[in-house]
Amino acid sequence: MSSMPETVTCLRVIVNRERQTFDIQWSDNHACSFPLDGLRRACPCAGCQGHEKMHELPDPEIFHLPALVRWENVKVEVAGSVGLRLTWDDGHNSGIFTWERLRAMCPCR
Ligand SMILES: [Zn+2]
Ligand SMILES: [Zn+2]
Repeated sequence: MSSMPETVTCLRVIVNRERQTFDIQWSDNHACSFPLDGLRRACPCAGCQGHEKMHELPDPEIFHLPALVRWENVKVEVAGSVGLRLTWDDGHNSGIFTWERLRAMCPCR
């Protein structure tokens, strides 16, 4: 996993329900825009990825697949200094997306 400089922090997170994107603005001016359905598929918990795979980055292809589900009620909480915990419409909230992981998964690359 590529690491990001310690000094880079997340400035804000926007769940755009209309566009179905999850947008992160970073302090180094980089912005990531994830499709919500792709991000749901990328949930890093053991239940979604399996124990062996949960520490690996997902295949970037998952962010380019057509969305199967519209997500209307995604809640975002800060999980300490680690990253973000997302609660999805289906109630699933076991995955913590670390800052490093979010940054490394950015679909712009
Ligand atoms: Zn999960
Ligand atoms: Zn990016």
